[in-house]
Amino acid sequence: KTNQVNEYIKNVYKKVEERNEGEYEFLQAVREIFDTIKPVLYDNPVYMKLNILERIVEPDRMISFKVPWVDDEGYVQVNRGFRVQFNNLLGPYKGGLRFHPTVNSSIVKFLGFEQIFKNALTGQSIGGGKGGADFDPKGKSDLEIMRFCRSFMTELSRHIGPNVDVPAGDIGVGEQEIGYLFGQYRKMRNSFEPGVLTGKPIAFGGSLGRKEATGYGTVYFVKEMLEDSNYSFQGAKVVVSGSGNVALYAMEKATELGATVVACSDSSGCIYDENGLDIEFLKQIKEDEKERVQHYTTVYSKAKYVEGCENIWSFPCDIALPCATQNELDMDAAKALVKNNVKAVGEGANMPCTYDAVNYLLENDVLMAPAKAANAGGVAVSALEMAQNNMRTHLTKEEVDARLQQIMKNIYAESIEAAKKYDDSDNLVVGANIASFIKVADAIVAQGV
Ligand code: GLU
Repeated sequence: KTNQVNEYIKNVYKKVEERNEGEYEFLQAVREIFDTIKPVLYDNPVYMKLNILERIVEPDRMISFKVPWVDDEGYVQVNRGFRVQFNNLLGPYKGGLRFHPTVNSSIVKFLGFEQIFKNALTGQSIGGGKGGADFDPKGKSDLEIMRFCRSFMTELSRHIGPNVDVPAGDIGVGEQEIGYLFGQYRKMRNSFEPGVLTGKPIAFGGSLGRKEATGYGTVYFVKEMLEDSNYSFQGAKVVVSGSGNVALYAMEKATELGATVVACSDSSGCIYDENGLDIEFLKQIKEDEKERVQHYTTVYSKAKYVEGCENIWSFPCDIALPCATQNELDMDAAKALVKNNVKAVGEGANMPCTYDAVNYLLENDVLMAPAKAANAGGVAVSALEMAQNNMRTHLTKEEVDARLQQIMKNIYAESIEAAKKYDDSDNLVVGANIASFIKVADAIVAQGV
């Protein structure tokens, strides 16, 4: 049986490598799933007969398109846009849009692949998708961003819809970009369909609590994990990488729960203050003034600024929350954290720890909250936004927060249960992968070929 399972996984993985040559991030995400779901295949050989693995890793479709736009000097620029629609077994394709120069088909596919499982874990009716463009919003004027968004949506609009595919934000795409994208979609359809995008401004169908949801959700999930080990945020020193939406609200919630957030970062460097950072001021710097984190030291002269965002993991902490981007926490970082006796790592970003780093942290008994589970709060509240749009109603911020807390609790409970059942452990990486894989696999079985 073991041989049969290993052989099957090896064969499918070989095909994935051949079909997605050089797409390292996507292959990394696939490998992590394949490595952890073996016990499910032992128990359900029918999954192999029905070739579930190959059917999950091949997206329904991968769309790539041209995005021409006019810059402020009157020159025409061209970017490449993507949307991967992985599967809509559990609901409409759902996942964010990332605007960043590193975006390519590998990045979009890894994010879309992760999204399938993350979305399944939320227990909401949403399938897996993702998209974006290799457009760099940094240094662009507001009008340039608007023109880019309009051109991007002109093409994307033919592929999406409230029951078809529902994009949202991700790195480089916030409320402002979603507003521009929505405006163009509305004009092209001559129809007000708020459920086609989530993360909208509140005035036209956005949900209260959506902006905070990913960061808060990560902290809620980590809180559950810590409590099971008789530990808590109270009095803990926390390092959070990044200073975007996810990082800011993870810092806010961790502080609210009694932790001291000692460091955060942006793509240029990090700031550190062992007495704790002023989160309100950080929010002002990032959200209102759109400044770099270095600016923090102009007001708080005791805080230290260190060039290079990768250096953030050398600051001593009890809890590390990587909330910036993929593969930001590598083996060297993992070693530094273990040396400093880190107790827990909670992934707020998508796949922020490298494959080796995850295994090293687990081997050294660090509690590990994997991204698919720990950052599912954002998309979970996106699903609540879709529900509110369909019902033409609004939840209060308190109602959204209560739902979010319950969803994160459920994800934790399901993940730990799966880890215990299939791995005889409390390894949440394995547990989250297995719990979500079974949901998707069973939907494939139930819906036929
Ligand atoms: N980009 C977020 C994520 O990685 C949110 C996606 C959404 O709300 O659809 O889950």
